[in-house]
Amino acid sequence: MEHEPKTLADAIVYFQDPNNCLDYLALRRWKNGVACPTCGRKDVSFVPSRRVWQCKTRHPKAQFSIKTGTVLEDSPLGLEKWLPVMWMVANCKNGVSSWEIHRSLGVSQKAAWFMLHRIRLGMQDKDTGGMLGGPEAAPVEIDETYIGGKARNMHKAKRRRLSDTCGMQGGHGKTVVMGMLERGGKVKTTILGNRREKKVMHAFIRENVAPGSAIMTDEFTNYDGLAPGFAHHFVNHLEKYVEGNVHTQGIENFWSLLKRGLGGTYVAVEPFHLFRYVDEQAFRFNNRATRDNPINDSDRFSLLCEQIVGKRLTYAQLTAKEDKKPEVAF
Ligand SMILES: [Zn+2]
Repeated sequence: MEHEPKTLADAIVYFQDPNNCLDYLALRRWKNGVACPTCGRKDVSFVPSRRVWQCKTRHPKAQFSIKTGTVLEDSPLGLEKWLPVMWMVANCKNGVSSWEIHRSLGVSQKAAWFMLHRIRLGMQDKDTGGMLGGPEAAPVEIDETYIGGKARNMHKAKRRRLSDTCGMQGGHGKTVVMGMLERGGKVKTTILGNRREKKVMHAFIRENVAPGSAIMTDEFTNYDGLAPGFAHHFVNHLEKYVEGNVHTQGIENFWSLLKRGLGGTYVAVEPFHLFRYVDEQAFRFNNRATRDNPINDSDRFSLLCEQIVGKRLTYAQLTAKEDKKPEVAF
């Protein structure tokens, strides 16, 4: 729609009107008209005084709101708060902290923390079927990074030499994240935990990279054995970083974005929740503007609104077992 918001400032004003919130979300959620989230019935009636719909079938949640069946379900906070926060998370390169939301919107820091995790679930990519690469496609760069711990500023090659000598895998409470990037395209990530097992790494590659792709890695021996299924090229980082077309600078750029967000914005992240922050950064990265896909802030926010449907994260789920996990300081 023409008058839909284009900037954060627009969004804050626009979403102060509850009718705008409802229209905006309903249009994205129900492209073919409103349907009951529980039974799918379409002859539902709208109750304007409460901004809910009534399903004619008798079942739980026969009266449903725009939040029902989305990550916003049961939240006491209004959409005039939720939507501007979603706009910020979708578009701020380094993310937004719960403290910033607390200060700017007047919700408690704890409530803001819960909001952010629900939004991150919305950002989690549902498209798991698409493979990266392919024999005719751009090469796929594969790499790992270490998050947290004291040695965070040490370069990977140096750290790896240390850890290989000491027999430590992740070492020093760090968490290993593995990622792959089709050059100019999408990134996919997985959390390896504190170990880098060759078998697990190979399985992740085979599940996500099309056979016959050109893959680029560093010299790490865990990448041995991927040929002949893939055209494997590697560069020895102890000697140089780029050899012609062979480098992993695209995925390293993603790691630096991730670390900038984690270091600058989130201050401390529990290893247990790390995947949520990685998903958040991957959403922004995978929906970045490129020459072929000139996506803007408003498009990125709209996409997030579509992705919050059919997902749920309760406070109990989010905080389960959490008190047993140590915090990683950045
Ligand atoms: Zn129904």
